[in-house]
Amino acid sequence: MSVEDFRSEAHKLVDWIAEYYKNVADYPVKSQVNPGDIAARLPDAPPDDKEPFSSVFEDIEKIILPGMSHWQSPKFFAYFPANASFPSLLGEILTAAFGAQCMKWETSPAATELEEVVMDWLRQMTGLPENFHGVIQDSGSTSTLCAILTAREKASRFVVNKAGFYGQPIYRIYCSAEAHSSVDKAVRIAGLGHDNLVKIPVDDAYSIDTRILKKRIEDDKQMGYRPLCIVVALGTTGSTAVDPLDEIACISKEYDTWLHIDAAYAGSALLLHEYRWMIKGIEAADSFVFNPHKWLFTNFDCSAYFVRDKDALIKTFQLVPEYLKSQVHGHANDYSDWGIQLGRRFRALKLWFVIRMFGVKGLQEKLRYHISLAVEFEKWLLQAGDYEIMAPRLFNLLCFRYNPSGDLSEDELDLLNENLLKEMNNTGKVYITHTRLKGKYCLRLVIAQTNTTMEHVEQAWQLLIDKSVQIINSGKINPR
Ligand SMILES: *Cc1c(COP(=O)(O)O)cnc(C)c1O
Repeated sequence: MSVEDFRSEAHKLVDWIAEYYKNVADYPVKSQVNPGDIAARLPDAPPDDKEPFSSVFEDIEKIILPGMSHWQSPKFFAYFPANASFPSLLGEILTAAFGAQCMKWETSPAATELEEVVMDWLRQMTGLPENFHGVIQDSGSTSTLCAILTAREKASRFVVNKAGFYGQPIYRIYCSAEAHSSVDKAVRIAGLGHDNLVKIPVDDAYSIDTRILKKRIEDDKQMGYRPLCIVVALGTTGSTAVDPLDEIACISKEYDTWLHIDAAYAGSALLLHEYRWMIKGIEAADSFVFNPHKWLFTNFDCSAYFVRDKDALIKTFQLVPEYLKSQVHGHANDYSDWGIQLGRRFRALKLWFVIRMFGVKGLQEKLRYHISLAVEFEKWLLQAGDYEIMAPRLFNLLCFRYNPSGDLSEDELDLLNENLLKEMNNTGKVYITHTRLKGKYCLRLVIAQTNTTMEHVEQAWQLLIDKSVQIINSGKINPR
């Protein structure tokens, strides 16, 4: 492909993308294909002869598009969003264009230094302490793994890295029963053993019960275990519950554990001063993660990981073979020493575009707007009378279920709401997902997509009440 061919195709592609964004709300937001449908339309073997871009692109519309769920649709209310924005998209295009591999300062000084600067901007924007240092990781899961590995190394005086676990105490890790599965994964990968992850029960608001936490740590100590790390959830995945950091920080100090904060989704709310209560006690934390790729309008992937003791992080990961030795070693950050991967994408660029082109005020406005839409939806649920709110709403996630008569059994309610979810998603007009809280099936609606407005939320509400009535009338759930 020549430069001139690239220029002309790329212009067309950008036009296509602009049209896509104009019309994305009209696509079925959740892909309606069945397993295997897409693969069946693709050739089994690669082409021997080259093909022009036009014929490749034809297949985007014909084959790929029907198999896409449209995460950038304003009608996307599922999971947590992976929300993008035009500023971020422009940054992502440039990152691909430079194609730089940003493992060390020398391999692209601007990539390293921009990452240092935007991560410090983010630190200021979220109200984290001045002695926290930031690095961009690919995901919240990776950030939490880095935290647990660093905790392990610091506690063992870097012996596990060198000699393995022989002669070490049995380390214990604590988190709430509602903590994200990435904590489980990290504990397994770090070689600590899943049995040593202690899940603490939650209270009525789905936050960790700190009295039980303290008791379990005390009991473990008596039994000869070594408490290693407490993971605090600020915004659980199920219901965005917030653990009481301040109280947990005291426990962490008392038992000298690493204190890691997982704010993957709700960390963005720290841009709003009315949410800073969440990080009371933050000075005692060792590490903190939140994902701008969830609710800060920055294309997946971009996870912001902050640590207090950056030397411990670097000592955990740094290896400098001869072929990577450089003149500036020790004078500039080599971010490949701050995590698992050697090779790194230039991810700071899209974040820089987002922060500059929205401005902090623009970002705050958007976050507050999303929260206000959730407040409205919650009012409608309460006014309608036959919906049950299943967990307190703190941000812009609603957990609820349809409970029309009050005399359905728990099993019938589960089935009713499962069917309701399916019926709603099958229309292609919304995408919502579910969770279970205290064993009960709940619909889970997150209002956080970049371009979602009141109009889309009203449509989702209308669809919910239409389908609720329909499902009762259809007799699909007929308890009597
Ligand atoms: C989404 C989420 C994660 C995982 O984030 P990834 O970037 O997908 O790995 C971790 N913790 C919480 C609370 C989350 O909501």
